[in-house]
Amino acid sequence: MATEPSPGAPASGGRSPFPVIEAVGRFAARPFMIALRRGLLLSLPLVLVGAFALFITTIAAFPAVAELLGGGADIVRAVCASIIDATFGLVALVVVIGFSHSLAALTGSPADRYPVRPSGASVVALTCFFITVAPDTLDQWKAALSAGRGLPAALAVAISASYLFLFLARRPLFRLTLRGSGGDPLVGDLFSILPAGAVTIAAFALVRQAQVGLGAPDLTSALSAVIEAPFSGAGPSALFAAAYALASQVIWFLGGHGANIMAPVLEHIMSPAAQAAADGQGRAITWSFFSVYTAFGGSGASLCLIAALLLGDRDPSTRRLAWLSLLPALINVNEPLVFGLPLILNPVYAAPFILTPVALALLGYGATVLGFVPPADLAVSWTMPPLFSGYLATGSPAGAVVQAIGIVGGTLIYWPFVRIAARLRHVANAEALSTLLVAAEADETAQSRRLIDLPGTAGRFANALAQDLAEALKAPDKLYLNYQPQICVEERRVFGVEALLRWNHDVYGPIPPPVTVALAEDMRMIDQLGEHVLRLACRQRADWGNAVADDLVVSVNVSPRQLQEPGFDNMVLRVLAEEGLEPRLLELEITESTSLAPALQAVEALQRLREVGIRIALDDFGMGHTSLRYLRELPLDTLKIDRSLTFSSHGDLNEHVIRSIVALSRTLGLTPVVEGIEQPEQLPRFVDLGCARFQGYLFSQPLAGGPCLDYIRANTRVS
Ligand code: C2E
Ligand code: MG
Ligand code: MG
Repeated sequence: MATEPSPGAPASGGRSPFPVIEAVGRFAARPFMIALRRGLLLSLPLVLVGAFALFITTIAAFPAVAELLGGGADIVRAVCASIIDATFGLVALVVVIGFSHSLAALTGSPADRYPVRPSGASVVALTCFFITVAPDTLDQWKAALSAGRGLPAALAVAISASYLFLFLARRPLFRLTLRGSGGDPLVGDLFSILPAGAVTIAAFALVRQAQVGLGAPDLTSALSAVIEAPFSGAGPSALFAAAYALASQVIWFLGGHGANIMAPVLEHIMSPAAQAAADGQGRAITWSFFSVYTAFGGSGASLCLIAALLLGDRDPSTRRLAWLSLLPALINVNEPLVFGLPLILNPVYAAPFILTPVALALLGYGATVLGFVPPADLAVSWTMPPLFSGYLATGSPAGAVVQAIGIVGGTLIYWPFVRIAARLRHVANAEALSTLLVAAEADETAQSRRLIDLPGTAGRFANALAQDLAEALKAPDKLYLNYQPQICVEERRVFGVEALLRWNHDVYGPIPPPVTVALAEDMRMIDQLGEHVLRLACRQRADWGNAVADDLVVSVNVSPRQLQEPGFDNMVLRVLAEEGLEPRLLELEITESTSLAPALQAVEALQRLREVGIRIALDDFGMGHTSLRYLRELPLDTLKIDRSLTFSSHGDLNEHVIRSIVALSRTLGLTPVVEGIEQPEQLPRFVDLGCARFQGYLFSQPLAGGPCLDYIRANTRVS
């Protein structure tokens, strides 16, 4: 079963300093909530295209634009209308498929005793949805499948049908033992869940029959009746303004179209009888009141949320979404944010999403009854951008002023929640980054998959990072090197430096080099990254020139996959020539890899490089299973003894291993270098064992080029 780390959980274990955030994070990480988010997310591309078409329609309706378009205006409108129908019009369907598929995938695995194919769950949920909504007319069909009217029923059916089906399909009683039948394993898998699927579908058909038999209204109408009931005797008052905004926001929050579902309530309030009963003060509430004063950027005053996100969240993917949502939000279409962030059923944004419009409704109502602004009773389209709509609906600049105050106030309400969401994501990302580091450093045979294919948050985070790495490689000043001095205690001098990759991400901070390298491999960008690293290292050594010892070598790490790239040797020679560095001043550090045994072509490439004077080191020697094989097959000069062996005490196994490695390297004519020396007391023991060359925090951390040169100069004699 694929699980996600809780976003609120502390990255390094122990108690979280934010128990509420942790609880919210745990809730948000439940399979139900993830499946819901993914179901809604799946419809985002549809919604974005639809919102864009709606935007064009609104622009084309402006008199000046319509005049410019002339006869073409009708064509533009017709094309946009069919796009809007086919995109917003399919959202409910997509959500049913997305939710059921995600829930099955999140709660099971192909290795389960009774596995369920996610596509099977989608087919069953879709069938149940059609049974439940099954309307008579084309218009009703359109409504049932659309984002506007169909979502609440779609969500209700997707959730109940998926849970019922998965519950049954994972019980032996409701399975046929037919796995392995037919040529394709899919045949057996699908037939085996047939009883569970049939029972689920039959249950929904029975409920539908009972509903028709009892003359009960369809699900969407039943939901509307429940919502309208509390407003039956209401008149247009401040209480009504607040209650109406509250109810329609709760509907939006649950996935329904608040404005559509609440339309009959508004009709009731606008009736002459209700207006007369309100004794004149009700003139504040008009047909456009709520769209003018509570829906800047659509329901939930999403323009305020976009402003808060752009001002208060540095996460690149959130900012990209906020910018993307801005254009539709200017014409009060907020689906990109509602589905993309998402806002529907999102516990972090529940309070501001529901309460901001309530506060704005009271602001608009108060401003009108106090006479600050005339009633908003002039006709204005709901797609008219805020500030314009306030002015046009009231016929007074004061309308735009009230809206501007509302936008600022709404942004302030959203602000702390944007910070909480960012904090939650930060904690989840830190957790994901440590998962990625473990995966990147794992033995490749055990890992056997790419970071970007990992399940859950870690995989999604890896994908986002991989995109950012591709960007960073285009203008690679964010990808730079530090240099860790290597010391020869016999000669009391720095004999070399190891170049180590650093990636300082704008938002996530330093990314561990093994993660950067693994991502570059996943994205087939390792040759590009490798060349960049090699070039920087050669340039640095060439820049130091005679300021350091004439034989000071710069070591560059080469990943096993990079070594396998055809033309690797030519690339190294080309970079050396371009940077004007003598080959004898470069060392390549090769790490062993269980799955990538040194191929003949790679060994030949290394041989060719060694012939021109480049040194070859075997990195992290002693920790892998195939170290000895590498020792036999690769042309080597240096053996770097892995840090894991340095924690030895007198007479223990590690000490024997080190002694053997030192003897072996002497026999083979290799120079041993001990990595990761941290404590002063480690040093004499290694010196006694015959080691003279070291690298570790005891001497120096990896340093930037300038400080490293200072260190080298200051330590030509190490005491
Ligand atoms: P490595 O090649 O074995 O590099 C040594 C690592 O040990 C470095 O970590 C270094 O900062 C760290 N280290 C050095 N002395 C000590 C010490 O006394 N104690 C401890 N605990 N650590 C010490 P870093 O920079 O995080 O790099 C990790 C690994 O990432 C490297 O291990 C190397 O395998 C890989 N890597 C780094 N840069 C590159 C690169 O440019 N290309 C490739 N392919 N791999 C790279
Ligand atoms: Mg190394
Ligand atoms: Mg190493």
